[in-house]
This record gives sequence, C-alpha cells and structure tokens, in this order.
Amino acid sequence: MSLEDEAEALASDLGVDKQEVLEDLEKLTSYSVPLEEAKGSLRRKYGDGSASSGNEPTTKEIADIGTDDGNVTVTARVLTVGKRSIRYQGDDQTIYEGELADETGRISYTAWEEFGLSVGDTVTVGNAGVREWDGRPELNLGQSTTLVFEDDTLDVEYGVGGDRTLDALEPGDRGRNVVVRVLECERKTIDGRDGETEILSGVLGDETGKLPFTDWDPHSEIEAGASVRLENVSIREFRGVPSVNVSEFSSVIALQEDVAVSESAPELPIGDAVSSGGAYDVTLVGNVIEVRDGSGLIERCPECGRVVQNGQCRSHGAVEGEDDLRVKAILDDGTGTVTAVLGHDLTEEVYGGGIETAKEHARDAMDKEVVADEIREQIVGREYRVRGQLSVDEYGANLNATSFEESDEDPSERAKAALAEVDT
Ligand SMILES: [Zn+2]
Repeated sequence: MSLEDEAEALASDLGVDKQEVLEDLEKLTSYSVPLEEAKGSLRRKYGDGSASSGNEPTTKEIADIGTDDGNVTVTARVLTVGKRSIRYQGDDQTIYEGELADETGRISYTAWEEFGLSVGDTVTVGNAGVREWDGRPELNLGQSTTLVFEDDTLDVEYGVGGDRTLDALEPGDRGRNVVVRVLECERKTIDGRDGETEILSGVLGDETGKLPFTDWDPHSEIEAGASVRLENVSIREFRGVPSVNVSEFSSVIALQEDVAVSESAPELPIGDAVSSGGAYDVTLVGNVIEVRDGSGLIERCPECGRVVQNGQCRSHGAVEGEDDLRVKAILDDGTGTVTAVLGHDLTEEVYGGGIETAKEHARDAMDKEVVADEIREQIVGREYRVRGQLSVDEYGANLNATSFEESDEDPSERAKAALAEVDT
C-alpha cells in the first residue's frame, strides 16, 4: 500500500481531511518514524474519530489536543502569564497570554477575559476553544470558558515562570522575564497607530548573548549602561532575529549590581546558524570560496545608501553616486554557506588601502574591477572567523560583519594532520 493509500484509509477511518493526514504521515516517515507508529500517533492526534465532530468539550491531556478539536477541557499548571494590549475592532483590549502544561506537554493560550491567572496556579479550564497557529494548536479562553482553581498542584517537567536568559528567547514568547544590561539605547519618534510616539530602541546583553529591544512605552530606568530586570516582555522576530518588546504592561526594575555581559559571540556551524533563522551576534568560521560581484569599489545613492549601478538608483533614478568600499564574500564550512558582508572599514583592512587608493588603482588600470580582484587575491581560499549579525530572508543568508579575522588554525598544519590520519 502506498503512503497515499495509507493516508486515505486512515483519513476516512478518522473522518478527517486526507491531505492533512498525508502531510503528517509524510513528515513523520521522513523522520524515520515506522509507519505503524506514525499511524498510531495520528490516531491519537485526530482523536480516533470518536468525539471530534460535536461541539461538546472533551476532557483531554495537552499532548492529545489537535488543531481539529473544537472545544476542550484541560487541567494544567500555568507556566507564564503575559499581559498585552491589542486593538480589536477599533478598541484597545487587554489580553493575557502564556503557556499551560500538564504531565504530557504544554500549550500556548490567549485569555480574552481577566480570569486572575497567576504563574504556578493549577487550574481546570472548561470549554476552551482550540485554534491553529503556525500549524500548532492553541487555547482560546473567552466568555464561554469556565475556570476552576485546583487545590492540588500539578507537577510538570517544565520551568514554571517566565525567567529566561537571552539565548533561550524565541519569537512568539510571551510573559518572559530577563535580567540584562542595556548596552545601547536611543530615543526615537515614530509614526505609531495613535500618531507620533516616542519609543526607545537599542541592544540588551547578558552572559549568554545580545539582542535588540524596543520599549514602546519609554521607561526611565532603561538607559545605556543600566542593569535592569525586565518583567513581562514579549519576543518578536525581525529579519530572523528575536527582538525583545517592552510594553506599558512590562515592569522595569533597576538593579544595583552590574549584570555580566558576554564579550564573545556564540560560535556555530554555518548550517545550524542559517537554519535557526538568524542571530543578533554570532561567530562563523569557514573558507572564503568566492568574492561576489558588487564587491570592491562601489557607488552608493546619496539619498538611500543603496548600491548604484551605471549611475542609476533603483528608487531614485539617475543620481551622483558616492564612492564606498564593500566586500561580499561567500563563506563555506562544509555544513552551509553565508554571504559575509564587510563594510568600508573592514574592506579597507582586507584591501590594504582606502577609497583614494582604490580610485587611483582603478584609474591606472582603467578598470574598477581591479579593486575586487585584489581583494579576491587576498582572501579566496583562506579560512576566516567572522562575527556579526546574521539575517536570513528573501535576500538570502547574510552575515553583516563586525569583525573579520583570518582563523588562527594554520591550514598547512591542518593539512599535515589530515595526511597523518590517512597514513596511520
Ligand atoms: Zn536611492
């Protein structure tokens, strides 16, 4: 029986959509889950067809809640509670979000009413709606939901409370608390949904890393150099990098002791870094296999800073370009590739001269490409340790370099070591 036939049989058995079952089966078998086990897990996921049709809430364990469930009743421990304001049909509404857990798993929830949930409570949530978000089930606690606070505390294997280090934050997280030092902080005026608004933006650090932040309701305790505990923050994603959001519902507590901040950036295999979707500050080590076109002596639009080609900016048409230096180098470590982008200063170091030198060089050769060629000579085929901000989006995987250093490891030593291994 083909996988498609299996999916069809299972789907009609369970009374659910065949395509969904097929996609789930394909996913599970691609992870080498044996077929029978995969089918069993889907039977559990889709509730064996028994109670999935009616609107009667079913008492379920969290692991058994599927995106096809209508309403469910669960007994769970409150892991986190985040408070946030959203604009819904023209009105500002306060909602509560976080995670619930039982012995079998955990699930995100949104409460549209004030139920008085606190971190650590054990509750029975009756008649909660199930909705799908990003392919996963989430609980909606609304007007028709009942809530009972249980006396017996449910033991769960997950951390109760929202305390996290910066490296453990993920986009979509709510109700998180961090202890950080404010490394950079800038006041900006933006056009918000209620007209011009002041916000703070900058960079936070702790012992595990650094992340950008935005404070939508400027707190006076947040200033460059300050060490603070931020409570009830949420995490968004910007170009693949998690960003900490401080709001009017967040608490900011100034700390007397300085929070220690890591000087180094975590080093990752390129493949892992790219599949993680981006990183604010990361170190990647690999061989430069190519210097891409658009490197060397380039011209930028004076209006927007984009690279000008043949005197034309994509947004501003014919412009008088401003000279700049840049390198776009493809870095490869065998697990993946990224384009390391070096700005003016790092390019100057690699090239061994500034813009004036480069222009003279190009004039003498009557060809701008000689600058890029010189850079190619210098770096292609060598191993570099590159630190910077990694963004992964429709423009590809780009590492905006803050440092670019030849790797300490001597390639000839490595070659010798490899040969020695072959010899024995
Ligand atoms: Zn422009």
